[in-house]
Amino acid sequence: MLGRKRVVAKSKEWSLDEEGPVVLVGGSVYLGGTELIRRRVFLDVRWLRVFRELPSSTEWLMYIGELYEEPTTNAYVIPLTDDVIIPEQEVTSASVDVKDSRDAPVVIHKHPEGLRSFSGIDREYVNQNHTVSIIWAGGFSLHASVRERIDGGVFWVYEADVEPALYGDVEIEDVLEVIREQLGNIKEKTYTVQSVYYPSEYYAYYYRDEGGEEKEWRKKLAEEEGEWLED
Ligand SMILES: [Zn+2]
Repeated sequence: MLGRKRVVAKSKEWSLDEEGPVVLVGGSVYLGGTELIRRRVFLDVRWLRVFRELPSSTEWLMYIGELYEEPTTNAYVIPLTDDVIIPEQEVTSASVDVKDSRDAPVVIHKHPEGLRSFSGIDREYVNQNHTVSIIWAGGFSLHASVRERIDGGVFWVYEADVEPALYGDVEIEDVLEVIREQLGNIKEKTYTVQSVYYPSEYYAYYYRDEGGEEKEWRKKLAEEEGEWLED
């Protein structure tokens, strides 16, 4: 493709805690009387091979550091690249809990087979923070969200189909190597049992009543000291 242009996309332009920007979700946007055209999203097809290297029974999330604008087709193009980060994350079959989120123009996360729609959490915490956010729901099931900066603090976020492309000069083996090095960052969430804390007095009371032995010891001690243990 011609006219490739590196997009310098700063992902976290705002914090959700602060007074945020205006985010227009979906719909149509007119600027100076002209309707803005939604961009198409192209993804290098070799990413599907890369995805198979990642866990299949759980979700996962990864960042891609390269995104190009293709002016002639008004598209964003995600090339095959080894500029990829798998952040520390705790995953289940239906969730990803990212421990160190990153600024990156592109984020991709896996959904359960066939679940091609963004969740409310995806929309609020993922899509608004990246220029392109993609769901892969297995096979050829992909879906995207695009974020455009319109003006100042106004953004437009809309959804788009993902179309196949071949883009980028990197060897797939090099990408797979980078992926394999980072697979350890994906950890399956384990369930922890909360320990119950008994204040020592309560514990003593509990033990005395149930066990009897401690009561005897305490009674002996009380006799020795000339006191009677209160019941
Ligand atoms: Zn999701």
